[in-house]
Amino acid sequence: MATVAIRNCKFIPALTEGTDLVEGDLLFRDGNIAEIAACGADFGTVDQEIDAHGMTAMPGLIDAHLHLSSTRDLIAEQCFVDDSMRPLEALEFAQVMLGFGYTTVRDCGEDKVFSVVSVRNAINRGMFAGPRILTCGLTLCPTEAGCTPDKDFGFLTPYNVDGSDSMRYFARRNFAKGVDFLKLYGSGSMMASGSNPGVPIMDDDEIAEAVKIAKQKGSYCAIHSHGGDAIYQAVSLGVATVEHASFIDDRSLDILANKDDHGIVPTLAITADLVEHTDPNTDYGRQVIAKVTKLIEKIKAHLGHAYERGDVMIGWGTDVTIGSYRREPGAEFRIRKEVYGWDNLEILKQATINSAKLCRIADETGSIKVGKCADVILVDGNPVEDLSIMYAGGAKHVFRAGVQYK
Ligand SMILES: [Zn+2]
Repeated sequence: MATVAIRNCKFIPALTEGTDLVEGDLLFRDGNIAEIAACGADFGTVDQEIDAHGMTAMPGLIDAHLHLSSTRDLIAEQCFVDDSMRPLEALEFAQVMLGFGYTTVRDCGEDKVFSVVSVRNAINRGMFAGPRILTCGLTLCPTEAGCTPDKDFGFLTPYNVDGSDSMRYFARRNFAKGVDFLKLYGSGSMMASGSNPGVPIMDDDEIAEAVKIAKQKGSYCAIHSHGGDAIYQAVSLGVATVEHASFIDDRSLDILANKDDHGIVPTLAITADLVEHTDPNTDYGRQVIAKVTKLIEKIKAHLGHAYERGDVMIGWGTDVTIGSYRREPGAEFRIRKEVYGWDNLEILKQATINSAKLCRIADETGSIKVGKCADVILVDGNPVEDLSIMYAGGAKHVFRAGVQYK
């Protein structure tokens, strides 16, 4: 029976359930949070004890939109990964994320050998340390400029899905490979050459088919979607999470409002990353930088409106590579705070409990609560008062299922 006592830590009340304490001791037993008690609690003999005086205990972070096995960086095409290396690259990225305090990551589109499924299974089997991983397998993407197997990010779309019969096959195939949810590609892309992010690229029958298959499997659909019409089409048909959601408007926000497991997953770090780190000396780089720069203010206005309404679940995504995470682990925190001006506590909720609800794992993680998994991080100081603690990768200590990783 493995036990860990965390002594004298501060709590964030909005992220700590079932207690009024603002500081105290935590006991982890066999991977779960067993007790939340006043400082100096008698836990009997424990296997490990940490004095966390001056630190805040938070639920582990959740990145609900990244790609573990795709590229090492955006800067050069050489960063695209060879197929044989993908599982190892994905494992490395997953472990880097855990070190930054992300105890859960949701992969929103992997490769044709299903590396992320393998890495998830290996971690779950105890072969390697790593975060909880949720993966959608292959992105279900129709034929679209830049998204064909031979172009740009085509390694993420080795098969195009056109028509509801094709959708039925590839959706079932993903589930047969062991995925956790489905990811559709509902609008054009910022990164794919020749693709217009504003317009829908899927038909109703294709989306409806995917939603139906996901429901049969007790799961849900996420969708890559930037344009307002494309987003409205998707949420009208029952898609649960809108990835990026760049130009979302009230038609869609009204449908998503007041639902715990439906909402949006903005990915702001990638927008900054594309502008700052794509190579401007290539045709590809010039095109992407021009496309994104033109849209940045418009995205901010639409997502700002979604935030101001206060009735739509906003989750946490980044969409960036391992290279970007290493350059600036807390870019998403910095941008949501400094560029968007959002409230510190709201940002911390987006990165934890909101994303747990959207990923449908809130009964396991997303807050500190007796009975939940001991996915807990300790950060210096109090991030509700000073969010910049999170900018450089805030986690000083990381526990995944009660086992210390950092
Ligand atoms: Zn993505």
